[in-house]
Amino acid sequence: MGEQTIRVQLSETKKQKPESDQLIFGKTFTDHMFVMDYSEPLGWHNASIVPYQPLTIEPSAMVFHYGQSVFEGLKAFRTATGDIQLFRPEKNLERLNLSNDRLCIPPIDENFALEAIKQLVSVEKDWVPDAPGTSLYIRPFVISTEPYLGVAPSSHYKFIVILSPVGAYYKEGINPVKIAVEDHYVRTVKGGTGEAKTGGNYAASLKAQEMVAKEGFAQVLWLDGVERKYIEEVGSMNVFFKINGEVVTPKLNGSILAGVTRNSVIELLKHWNIPVSEKRISMEELHQAHKDGTLEEAFGSGTAAVISPIAQLTWEGEDMIVNGGKTGEISQKVYDTITAIQYGKTEDPFNWLVNVATKNTIKN
Ligand SMILES: *Cc1c(COP(=O)(O)O)cnc(C)c1O
Repeated sequence: MGEQTIRVQLSETKKQKPESDQLIFGKTFTDHMFVMDYSEPLGWHNASIVPYQPLTIEPSAMVFHYGQSVFEGLKAFRTATGDIQLFRPEKNLERLNLSNDRLCIPPIDENFALEAIKQLVSVEKDWVPDAPGTSLYIRPFVISTEPYLGVAPSSHYKFIVILSPVGAYYKEGINPVKIAVEDHYVRTVKGGTGEAKTGGNYAASLKAQEMVAKEGFAQVLWLDGVERKYIEEVGSMNVFFKINGEVVTPKLNGSILAGVTRNSVIELLKHWNIPVSEKRISMEELHQAHKDGTLEEAFGSGTAAVISPIAQLTWEGEDMIVNGGKTGEISQKVYDTITAIQYGKTEDPFNWLVNVATKNTIKN
């Protein structure tokens, strides 16, 4: 399977690229995509880079009915010297296979998938924007395509990678957001699919998000699905708190998504000798810390924003203001460092970056 070559069919036309200040997340797609099929007994085959185009899938394809699908999200960054780099892509591909396993989707060779992403980004190198804070978002995903209404794992799949140039997440500096602690709806439960990056988790989260958005909150803080006592995540980000000098984040427990950014934040804090621990954190405990004046910072972490500071947490009708509603020192330092590494402005002490060859060696 690692022996596969990637067939390349280049597009005859090129789309007009939007100006970098006009980019809206997830709305514009590049000229090409990567596609690979799975069927038995062939396994994964037909790896190809083709013009970006609609898919032809039967209405009976299993993904439409039972939601057997997984996805990933990562970015390619352009450095000042014009190089293109990926941030920890092997972590995303490792997680893709964990998600695949949970959803009964056959595994994908991670090295081959990385090669495919590198080749696709190389073909689309002119789509990697260079304005400050911009990047090329990479969306790998798998869908089940067998035309069958029986409830069982599909025997046919497609692995697809599409690319979308994205603008700067923070146009005027980091802005801290208001969060509602969700005590009615839950995102997932222990033994569920919370640990997998699957569309169903997002479908399940929309209702809560819609309700709090009406009250002016940016996101919800999810509590555990059993007792609704312990903190899990914030929106579709992992969450960190600085309490009395120590940074804490909920311990991975099977229902929390293991974010690549979460892991990077932990590694950085350790590198700086800032106390950090992964543990179960109850909402009561957090509330008490706020009352005692020891809740010093709170922030979300994820690929899209990197760091999203929390200005306010509203729980059971009480507004808890964090750090005077301002971005905390650690939040800012982590944000500055991760983005500096991504754009090649500082050293990469952890070897997080993977370079994409930009001399086009693709033969059509
Ligand atoms: C993708 C995702 C995250 C963040 O993961 P990163 O790898 O850091 O982008 C956190 N929580 C959920 C539910 C997610 O889907």
